Amino acid sequence: DNKKRDRVASGRENMDFMNSFEERSSYPEVILCKFGEVILKGNNRQNFESGLVKELRRRASPYGNFKIYFKQSTIYVEPQNDECDMEGMYAAAKKVFGIVAVNRAAVCEKNMDAIKKCAAEYLPLKLSGKRTFKVDAKRSDKKFPLTSPEISKEIGGVIHSATRGIKVDVKNPDVIVTVEVRDKNVFIHGNQIKGAGGMPVGSAGRVALLVSGGIDSPVAGWMMSKRGLQLNAIHFAAPPYTSKRAEMKVRDLVSIVAKYSGRINFAVVNFTEIQEAIKEHCPEELFTIIMRRLMMKIAVRLAEKDNCGALVTGESLGQVASQTLGALACTDAAVNMPVFRPCIGMDKDEIITISRAIGAFETSILPYEDCCTVFTPKHPRTRPTLKLIEEAEGAFDFSEMIDRAIENVKYEFVD
Ligand code: ATP
Ligand code: MG
Repeated sequence: DNKKRDRVASGRENMDFMNSFEERSSYPEVILCKFGEVILKGNNRQNFESGLVKELRRRASPYGNFKIYFKQSTIYVEPQNDECDMEGMYAAAKKVFGIVAVNRAAVCEKNMDAIKKCAAEYLPLKLSGKRTFKVDAKRSDKKFPLTSPEISKEIGGVIHSATRGIKVDVKNPDVIVTVEVRDKNVFIHGNQIKGAGGMPVGSAGRVALLVSGGIDSPVAGWMMSKRGLQLNAIHFAAPPYTSKRAEMKVRDLVSIVAKYSGRINFAVVNFTEIQEAIKEHCPEELFTIIMRRLMMKIAVRLAEKDNCGALVTGESLGQVASQTLGALACTDAAVNMPVFRPCIGMDKDEIITISRAIGAFETSILPYEDCCTVFTPKHPRTRPTLKLIEEAEGAFDFSEMIDRAIENVKYEFVD
């Protein structure tokens, strides 16, 4: 590290900063991850800290050898050699729930000359295209000869000349440059980049997500995971009506959500026999709602086995016949476990915005069949009464089929 720093620092005095992007980006960097307030103040602070460090270590493994540790309300992610993929690690860190800001920072020695030099070399790239900035210096080492305002002032001057004219604006700057004077080193970075926010995964317990190949359920899973819930996923397939490729697409979606939530225990239920029985024994107009109730009944049993405290679906209000208020009430009545529907109050375009942001959308819109659409009734009942539904469902005893479906579930861990 020291060698690299020396190499980078040498012969830089008279460099034209605007023409040396390549070299400047090779300045030794670390990634600094900051927590949210909730975590800093909560009772479980220590658990959260060690949980987040563990999670970052797990996610760092594809990107090389990083030293990851917690200190002074920050998690440090330090590359240990030149082979480390900083871009990859940076992108991965931005997906960890419980981290509110992620900075790539240059590391320099703890003296004013080094800080000035580093600011002049490292920052112009970060500030390119920006009009105004301010410097926010922080000292955790109170023995450092300059005060924070003095550091800010000096570094402000350095940046002003190094960037040829970006102006200081202390009230509403385009970029806040942070200079952190710590125990051993100094870290210098441009704007804080928003992290994934939310709560550390696992801090709130575990739930079971009913996942289809659509847009909504992966978003629903992501939203609940963001609140600190670990996920199981349950998918209903109806081969040969639904294909292996359709199932693989769902698995891909689960894997995309797992990039945020961590490993997901993914269960695939064979639903064919039950769907055929519904078709044979129940009135067509009630087909969809009875199918959904039976899905929920199976999901609850699987959820209980794995200590999940609730079910999660991607349902929202009013998109399709099975998602009217009455229909949702009938679905709820099939189970006695809380059912979370985080998309319930969202417009489709709001759901799509999240779907795109988490990288699921392109996969969700691939045109594969879902078991829900295999036997869609021509005229679904939009205002079913529970009494009517229960009578219709009672015309056939599904319990053996349900037991069989549960016995034959296929499990897989998806990362
Ligand atoms: P999505 O975009 O999530 O598919 P949707 O708007 O298409 O939702 P539906 O097809 O009615 O609506 O499904 C509503 C919810 O029911 C889904 O969000 C999902 O939670 C659950 N669901 C639907 N099909 C399946 C399936 N084959 N396996 C597991 N859950 C399913
Ligand atoms: Mg769907």
